[in-house]
Amino acid sequence: MPPKPCWRARVTETDLLVIGGGITGQSAALFAAQAGARVTIVDAQRNAGSHANAGSLHVQMQSRFLRLNPHLADNLESSLPLYLSAVTAWEALDTRLGGVELTREGGLMLAEDEAQLDFLRQKAERETRKGLDVEILDRDELFSLAPWLGEAIAGAELCRNEGKLNPLVANRKMRGALGSLGVEHVHDRITRIEEGSPPTAEGEGATYSAGAILVAAAWGAEALAKPLGLTIGTPPEPLHMNITEAGDYRIRHLVQHAERPITLKQFRSGQVVIGGGWDANLASAESRAPTIRRQSLLGNVALASRIAPGIAGLRVLRTWAGYNTPVDGKATIGPVRNGSRVFLALPGDAGYTLGPITGQAAAALSLGTDPPIDPAPYSPARWRS
Ligand SMILES: Cc1cc2nc3c(=O)[nH]c(=O)nc-3n(C[C@H](O)[C@H](O)[C@H](O)COP(=O)(O)OP(=O)(O)OC[C@H]3O[C@@H](n4cnc5c(N)ncnc54)[C@H](O)[C@@H]3O)c2cc1C
Repeated sequence: MPPKPCWRARVTETDLLVIGGGITGQSAALFAAQAGARVTIVDAQRNAGSHANAGSLHVQMQSRFLRLNPHLADNLESSLPLYLSAVTAWEALDTRLGGVELTREGGLMLAEDEAQLDFLRQKAERETRKGLDVEILDRDELFSLAPWLGEAIAGAELCRNEGKLNPLVANRKMRGALGSLGVEHVHDRITRIEEGSPPTAEGEGATYSAGAILVAAAWGAEALAKPLGLTIGTPPEPLHMNITEAGDYRIRHLVQHAERPITLKQFRSGQVVIGGGWDANLASAESRAPTIRRQSLLGNVALASRIAPGIAGLRVLRTWAGYNTPVDGKATIGPVRNGSRVFLALPGDAGYTLGPITGQAAAALSLGTDPPIDPAPYSPARWRS
């Protein structure tokens, strides 16, 4: 339901106002509330990537990102230490939330020919230099780990740092944890932020005054940051997903391909989650949410059943589309300028993986405590025009 105009006169005062209630904003809120802050999350409840994602814990550089954004490869590569911290943060969150079906049995990026294997070898060398635990597997080594693979697969890169979790469980438990800490949730869309003392945010339904404001609005951040002097491109990228009925639990790794857009994994329930970057349609005034494309559904599941022929008999139960916000392949974490009480928390890419560490780091900065990572490489200063 759209917010009611009669809320207009309300002024909410809080220690930390978090704009955006996806995994990044929620993680920031959890961190701050645990530290004793009064926290309000204000969220437009529109197209959160966190409600559409596949639960892959990515660490190795995704071939799709490198293929589509060769000019941003350095950003992604320099972010690899953040990905390592991100999976550690997820493990802590898994414990904190009482289990989100998180496993870290590694990720496989598959190759079908020598050229693709060469690409993976070079990628693995770069990743090893950044501290990732990766190895190139020949066909025999690979099939002993993953005997369910299709005949065409010639080898793979194994990244032992990678894993998966169930985002439906994680999102539900996160909401419960925030509720028990007294974090307030408000349904509203923020239209403008003022960096005064204290900073304020104008919503369609109310005005918010806070000790600090943290923007974790993903695709919505661009419009909020522009009047603050930051030109940051956050166009939404509408992507397609599928989930099948349950089969025997055999696929333990997160699976990707060196050249084709796919991520494939199996939940403990036996359901196979298939995605990996197939296009969907942008939301329209009529649909409000992104809509699926028939050719993405067909192409995505056809590719999946070539990679893992055993899943070909499983029925697809549901398909959906959601907004990814890749930005420039690098997180943005910190105050909009030195001394500002307005902070940005944007994961950059693989945002469900990076959301908790990004949110925690930004929240720590807003509270004046030590962040869990060095935020300097992710400073918003690079967006100042
Ligand atoms: C189909 C799909 C599959 C994906 N799979 C994976 C995966 O397996 N692993 C992975 O790591 N990542 C994955 N991603 C990416 C990931 O889901 C997102 O990058 C991540 O969830 C971003 O989290 P966030 O909290 O930063 O933003 P979001 O979850 O997008 O939340 C942003 C929130 O901000 C709110 N908002 C925006 N503007 C305003 C405003 N002006 N006022 C108030 N509220 C506002 C929105 O309503 C939204 O609720 C996937 C994405 C998609 C679309």
